[in-house]
Amino acid sequence: MIETISDTIAAISTPMGEGGIAVIRMSGPEAVAVADRVFRSRQRLEQVPSHTVHYGFITDPATGDRVDEVLVTVMRAPRSFTREDVVEISCHGGLVPVRRILELLLEHGARLAEPGEFTKRAFLNGRIDLTQAEAVIDLIRSKSDRAYSIAMKQAQGALSRRIRELRTSLVELMAHIEVNIDYPEHDVEEATAALIRGRCQEMLDEIDRLLAGARAGKVLREGIVTAIVGRPNVGKSSLLNLLARENRAIVTDIPGTTRDVIEEYVSIRGIPLKLLDTAGIRETSDIVEKIGVERSRHALEEADLILFVLNHSEPMSEEELELLRRVEEKPALVIVNKTDLPGRLDVEELRRRFGEERVVLMSALREEGLDRLEQAISDMFFSGSIETADQTYVSNVRHIDLLQRARRAFEDALHAAEARMPIDVVQIDLRLAWELLGEVIGEAVSDSLIDQIFSQFCLGK
Ligand code: GDP
Repeated sequence: MIETISDTIAAISTPMGEGGIAVIRMSGPEAVAVADRVFRSRQRLEQVPSHTVHYGFITDPATGDRVDEVLVTVMRAPRSFTREDVVEISCHGGLVPVRRILELLLEHGARLAEPGEFTKRAFLNGRIDLTQAEAVIDLIRSKSDRAYSIAMKQAQGALSRRIRELRTSLVELMAHIEVNIDYPEHDVEEATAALIRGRCQEMLDEIDRLLAGARAGKVLREGIVTAIVGRPNVGKSSLLNLLARENRAIVTDIPGTTRDVIEEYVSIRGIPLKLLDTAGIRETSDIVEKIGVERSRHALEEADLILFVLNHSEPMSEEELELLRRVEEKPALVIVNKTDLPGRLDVEELRRRFGEERVVLMSALREEGLDRLEQAISDMFFSGSIETADQTYVSNVRHIDLLQRARRAFEDALHAAEARMPIDVVQIDLRLAWELLGEVIGEAVSDSLIDQIFSQFCLGK
C-alpha cells in the first residue's frame, strides 16, 4: 500500500465546455514549482502560506504572452485532498484558455492525470479508504439528490464504519473461540457452539442488509428505467412534462408527434426515474412513426417500471387491451388521464385487475393527481415491487462480490458449527470472512488479524 509518488499530475477538474470559470488542478511534490514557472504575480507561490489565494496571470515563459487572468489557490501537504501539495488555478471558462494553461503546465513539469488519479492518490496517501474513494466516483456520477446523499454518506465512511463494526464483532467471536479451545470442557464447548450460531446469524443478517443497500444504491445511481406507454394522444408527453417540470417533449394535438424516444431524469420523492417518453404503440403506415413504435416495444421490455397511460374519456381500444395484457406481469401503474373529461372508461374493471393501489386517476392538463402518482411510485419502490432487470450496471461490483463471498463464508461457518465440526474448521471460515470484509475497505493484511485478536485478549482477559 505504501507507494512513493514522485511525479506531479495535472488535469482540468471542471466539466468540458463553456462555463463562467474552469479549474485546473495539480497535485504532487512539484505542484507549486510548476505553477511558479507559468504564473506571474506580486509574489512567488513558493513563498506564500498554505491555503491562500493569489491573483495574477498565466504567462507563456517562452514568448511572454499572457494566456489568462487567474486566481491560484495553494494547499500544501498534508492538508489537501490528496495529502500532497495541491495548486488549483481558476481561469476563464473558455475551452481555449483552459487547454492552453493545461498544456503549459504539462510543458513545465507536470504529467496529465489519469481518470480518478487524484482520488487514487488520496487513497494511497491514506486520506480516504477504498469505499470512500469509490464513493467519490459515485458522487461525481450520481444523478439524483438521494443518490447524492447516499454517496455522500459513504464518502464520510458510513459503509466503512459498518464493515469495521462487523469485523470487530467477528474478532471478538474468534478471540472467544480461541480461548475456549484451551478449555474444552463439555459445557464450554456447548456454549461456544451456541454463541457461534447466534453471532454468525447476526452477521449474516447484517451482510444481507448491506447487500440490499448495495442494490438500492445501484438503482439510485442509475435511475429506475421507466417507460411511459399508451396510444397517441392519451397525454404521455403532457405527463412527462408535468413530471419533468420542463418542456423537453413537444406536446401537440396531432396523434403520434412524439416520434422518438426521449430520455429524461426526474427525481420522485428522492427516487430517480430515467423516463423514456415513447411514441404511441398504435400500428401505423407512417415510417417515421413506426420506428418510434418499435422503440416503444423495446422500451417496454427494457423498463423497470411502466406507466401505462389511458384516456378517461374513451373506452379502451383493442390495442390497448392487448397492451394491458403485456403490461400486467410487469411492475406497472395504470394511469387514467384526462379525468377532467367525462368518463367512458371502466375504471372499476381496471382496479379489479391491477389492484386499487396500482390505478391512478389524474389530469395532466389540470395538474391534478400528481401527488397520488408520486405516492404510488414511491410505495412500489419501497415495497420492493420494482426490481431493476439489468444488474450489469452495478458500479460497486467489487463490494457486492466481496460481501457475497463473505456471506458464503459465514454460512459455511454456521453449517460447520451446526454439524459439530471441529472448531478449527469454523475458525478457518471466520478468518476468510474477516479477510474478505477487510478487502472491502482495503485492509486485508493477515498480520493485523493477529494484532487485533491479541488486543481483544488484553481487553477481555
Ligand atoms: P401523447 O400523444 O400521448 O404524448 O399525448 P400529449 O401529451 O401530446 O397530449 C395530447 C393532447 O391531450 C394535448 O392536446 C394535451 O393538451 C391533451 N391532454 C393531455 N392531458 C390532458 C388532460 O388531463 N385533460 C385534457 N382534457 N386534455 C389533456
